[in-house]
Amino acid sequence: MSNTPYNFKDYIRVIPDFPQPGIRFKDITTLLKDGGAYRAVIEEMRAAVQHMNIDIVAGPEARGFVVGAPLALALGVGFAPIRKSGKLPGETITANYDLEYGKDQLAMHKDAITPGQRVLIADDLLATGGTIATSINLIRQLGGEVVGAAFLIELAYLTGREKLEGIDVFSLMTYE
Ligand code: AMP
Repeated sequence: MSNTPYNFKDYIRVIPDFPQPGIRFKDITTLLKDGGAYRAVIEEMRAAVQHMNIDIVAGPEARGFVVGAPLALALGVGFAPIRKSGKLPGETITANYDLEYGKDQLAMHKDAITPGQRVLIADDLLATGGTIATSINLIRQLGGEVVGAAFLIELAYLTGREKLEGIDVFSLMTYE
């Protein structure tokens, strides 16, 4: 059980109709600017995933960096960035994914993951799971074993978790 004095949801600002009508945007900047709350969420996530014996954390830009990099440091492992195509300078692999309107592509460096490494994917928020499914595709292409996924926030009504079968999923806050 958690011993934290923080009620983390109090630190999330919900902005209606951003970036488009009908979306209730979960703004984490109000949490990040509070050093104590930021440290506490990373510590809660570390404690929840410690048992997974992770070798490396991977996170999609940009908010996956804000969560994944400090989590990697807390676990004492490295961090592998997952970026939009065209941003990484070395040799990359890519995977496509569908957006509501059109397509996008994520990329990783070919040497970001050593085959056989146990990988934890970290991001701020699990919605439909499209971003994470694409990240899993990339990591598996590189021979990594995706053992876990950790999120600050899960929007349970979008059922993204169903795309993560066989993976240990942790989310700190859930919105039903
Ligand atoms: P998805 O691929 O549908 O799981 O969407 C995940 C990404 O979109 C996350 O990395 C979030 O940063 C962002 N996102 C989706 N829905 C929201 C929301 N309601 N509030 C804040 N961010 C969101």
